[in-house]
Amino acid sequence: MMDSIAIAPDQTAKTNLIGLDLAELEETLAPLNLRSFRLGQLWQQMYRLGAPDFASMTTLAKTLRVDLAERFSLGRLEASTTEVSKDGTTKWLFKLEDGSQVETVYIPEKDRGTLCVSSQVGCTLNCRFCHTGTQMLVRNLTAAEILGQILTAKDALNDWPAPRPDRKLTNIVMMGMGEPLYNFENVKKALLTAMSDTGLGLSRRRITLSTAGVVPMIERAGSEIGVNLAISLHATNDEIRDRIVPINRKYPIEQLIQACRDYPTLNNARRITFEYVMLKDVNDLDEHAHALARMLKDIPSKINLIPFNKWPGAEFERSTDERIQRFANIMMDAGYPSPVRTPRGEDIQAACGQLKSATERKRRTKTAPAVAAD
Ligand code: SF4
Repeated sequence: MMDSIAIAPDQTAKTNLIGLDLAELEETLAPLNLRSFRLGQLWQQMYRLGAPDFASMTTLAKTLRVDLAERFSLGRLEASTTEVSKDGTTKWLFKLEDGSQVETVYIPEKDRGTLCVSSQVGCTLNCRFCHTGTQMLVRNLTAAEILGQILTAKDALNDWPAPRPDRKLTNIVMMGMGEPLYNFENVKKALLTAMSDTGLGLSRRRITLSTAGVVPMIERAGSEIGVNLAISLHATNDEIRDRIVPINRKYPIEQLIQACRDYPTLNNARRITFEYVMLKDVNDLDEHAHALARMLKDIPSKINLIPFNKWPGAEFERSTDERIQRFANIMMDAGYPSPVRTPRGEDIQAACGQLKSATERKRRTKTAPAVAAD
């Protein structure tokens, strides 16, 4: 007979309550026979007050807190590294339970703070200017992992309770690693929780979902989540877009633009943002700017011009400042607000299109040059 061995309690066996919607929370906690009033209190503790553990939920009875702590967890993410740029941008590399990693970036500005949230580990879309697209390891994040990025960032920023006039995290952009519309259900669940009035209470007007153009899912993003839409456009004809945003071969520009025209919440107050990365001699000519203005003429839109952020192995160069300004002027003359985005966090590889987990970077460096697989 084997000797008995003391086994430490397995933390991973506990059910994570973060990421469940209210109905799922009720079902999961059914064995505890909680009244809906108590469930509401628990929800508020989790998302309004940001309680990191059950012990600190002092509005709940002590026996209940102990019971909850024995069976459940409130899954925060574990930061492997935290880097802070000289411009104040913070980038976290979060290690997930299966060992994979994602990056999340907080960008403080004068009147707001934006969290750039990831929806997948890596990305299958291989946009050629994007470092994330070269990452081999890809899986969808769970709703808990998407929300976990927001909650852990708020912990680090000391930004609780959630709704307060001076909150540091005011905006969310689903523009980190991954294509959010390829992980629709989990992104939807996480964002609806982030918008919950009794929880994080973020307005849908302060949340933007960015897609490279998964046309069949765009209508659902508007009708079922209702957040602002951004399109990772980057080209004005199929020839160029097929090359730099390969999903265009499946859903060409005409279909994409029609989906934008049909976007449910579209109006002058809630414009679609078109992101346009400025690639030297690829998509930055005057004729491209004029074509862009023509293409968007009946869509309430704003254009975000993004100077290309170089990464090791990238095949493109950033357009010159003069060229970017000339492009912006053509767009502005045509009546489109076209701010040139100031790269943030470049010194810590946190800028647009630069995200890629450190382990993956190392793995690729050992095995192959970091070029976009197409
Ligand atoms: S730009 Fe977005 S959709 Fe394209 S490869 Fe990068 S993360 Fe994926």
